[in-house]
Amino acid sequence: MSHAEGHADLPVAARVRRLEERAVAAGLTTDDELDAFLTRFLENASPMNGARLAARAWSDPAFRERMLADGNAALGELGLGPADPARQGFRLVIVENTAATHNVIVCTLCSCYPVALLGPSPSWYKSHAYRARVVREPRAVLAEFGLVLPDETEIAVWDSSSKARYMVLPRRPDGTADLDEEALARLVTREGLIGTALV
Ligand code: FE
Repeated sequence: MSHAEGHADLPVAARVRRLEERAVAAGLTTDDELDAFLTRFLENASPMNGARLAARAWSDPAFRERMLADGNAALGELGLGPADPARQGFRLVIVENTAATHNVIVCTLCSCYPVALLGPSPSWYKSHAYRARVVREPRAVLAEFGLVLPDETEIAVWDSSSKARYMVLPRRPDGTADLDEEALARLVTREGLIGTALV
C-alpha cells in the first residue's frame, strides 16, 4: 500500500492492531491477555452453543421457563458464559417461536448479534438489504430464505441494541419425541436461531 492512501484505508487488521497497541501502551491490557481472550472467544463461539440452549429448553420445561425469563442466567447454567450476568457483557433475550408467532432477529443499526451463541455472523445478516427490509417486509424476506409462513402466523422482528442481544428458540420439530438432547441439538441451525429457518 502506498502512503498516499492514508490511514483510513489501512486494512481493518492493521487498524485493530493500532488500537491494541494503544490499549497496551495505556496499561489497559497486555498482548498476552488479548491473545488469550481472542483465542478463548473464537474457539468457543459457535452455533452449537445456541443449539444446546434450544435442545435443553425442548427437553426440560423448567429450564425453558427460566431461559425465557432470563437468558443470561440460562447461559450461566449451561456454562456458556460467566455465571454472573453482569460479566457477560450484554443482556440476552430469548424469544420463543409458537404456532401463533414466528420471531426473527436483526440489528438495523449495524450487525449486533450474540456471536458466542451463533458463531460469526453471516454476511447477509450484516447487509444493508437484510437490515432495512426485514423490518419493513419480514414475510417477503423470510420467503426469500425459503421460509413461507402461514398467513395467520404473526412475525415479530427483534432489533438488537447495544444493551440487548436476541436469540430465537425454534419450535421443536414433529417426530422428535424420542431424541435425546444431543441429537436434538444437532437439528438446530444458525438460521433457525436467527429466525430465517424453522430449526
Ligand atoms: Fe449492531
